[in-house]
Amino acid sequence: MDVIIIGGGLAGLVSGLELARAGHSVTIVERKTYPFHKVCGEYISNEVRPYLEWLGVDLRALGATHIKQFQFTSPSGRSLETALDLGGFGLSRYTLDQALYEMAQSAGVQFLLGKQVETVRFASDGFTLELNDGQVLTSRLVLGAFGKRSKIDKQLQRSFMQKPSPYLGVKYHIRTNARLDTIALHNFPDGYCGLSSIEDGKFCLCYLTTRDNLRPFGTIPAMEQAVLFQNPHLKRIFERSEFLYEKPEVINEFSFAPKRAVEQHILMAGDSAGLITPLCGNGMALAIHGGKLVSALSSQYLRGNIPRTELEHRYQTEWSARFARRLWVGRTVQRLFGDKWLSEAAVTIFGAFNPLLRGVIRQTHGKVLAVE
Ligand SMILES: Cc1cc2nc3c(=O)[nH]c(=O)nc-3n(C[C@H](O)[C@H](O)[C@H](O)COP(=O)(O)OP(=O)(O)OC[C@H]3O[C@@H](n4cnc5c(N)ncnc54)[C@H](O)[C@@H]3O)c2cc1C
Repeated sequence: MDVIIIGGGLAGLVSGLELARAGHSVTIVERKTYPFHKVCGEYISNEVRPYLEWLGVDLRALGATHIKQFQFTSPSGRSLETALDLGGFGLSRYTLDQALYEMAQSAGVQFLLGKQVETVRFASDGFTLELNDGQVLTSRLVLGAFGKRSKIDKQLQRSFMQKPSPYLGVKYHIRTNARLDTIALHNFPDGYCGLSSIEDGKFCLCYLTTRDNLRPFGTIPAMEQAVLFQNPHLKRIFERSEFLYEKPEVINEFSFAPKRAVEQHILMAGDSAGLITPLCGNGMALAIHGGKLVSALSSQYLRGNIPRTELEHRYQTEWSARFARRLWVGRTVQRLFGDKWLSEAAVTIFGAFNPLLRGVIRQTHGKVLAVE
């Protein structure tokens, strides 16, 4: 096998598809079975729209919505709006990942679904992986596309795993009365909640907060009533919408700390290489962009055009040049959000100087990804 990809989210699916189309043998190991829901705001920056369409994803047929306005509210409910220069589209991960999975399968990618990679070892210029069912796989290259946090991070003793990770992410699909063309970011004490349209007239309601916010209340509904409802926009949304899941999708224990794009010869892509704070709304674009970058360089190595040392060096360097600053800006701007005083001040300042807000948004977004 040329390449084994650990994780079949956006980074894994895009890189698998590209590598299979370039003629390489590829296996993706994904611990879940498609289609499935994921904690994600499901607003996708237009940065990757032309590239996804070039790959063959028919966004219109999948029902993607067009999003071009941004609304920001403070915990007390004060609101400001601005146009998004680049904008984006709304589409659930349930639908988008399923579409990419079907395309990757048609391109010849082999999938091992419902299985988890337990360990990866590099020796004698190749990799050996052990799965949770005892199966052993070998390959020339391994791409780590296993998302925010995985047992592989622990096995590799990655440094961010030593630090506490206080975050909690919660997501619902709802039907509600809101504008289809707007992504709203509603702040509440120690957190923020996005609302944006997706396919079939539905909306994605997804928030990030800390486990400390949950602890005094014990349950997610009790925390929502006590904390999120302090913002009158959120109170209205929660009380006047139809919730389409029996219970929310929830994730915790993930970190926004910097990571390395190459660890023990494994090339990391998407959140495994670095997670951008969700308020920037472009983690998915970064995962797709990262998948394109890692597959192009990997293909050069597999064809014998560059040695492994050059592959690893070029990947780390190009990854940092393209993404490291955006992740840093995301971490910095996140401090504004959730802090009661700062987010009230942000509404006043950005309300008076709208170009400043657009400038901050631009800093966290990249240029439209070239198609080639
Ligand atoms: C609260 C929240 C809201 C967000 N909102 C947005 C938004 O609106 N817009 C946006 O662009 N980004 C958003 N993001 C970020 C975005 O969701 C991620 O950046 C994106 O999903 C990264 O894709 P990925 O392919 O790297 O990882 P993932 O999509 O997480 O895929 C990783 C896959 O690996 C699998 N896996 C893990 N370990 C193993 C293993 N050992 N073996 C086999 N399989 C394994 C998992 O099951 C998973 O399917 C948000 C993030 C959070 C936390």
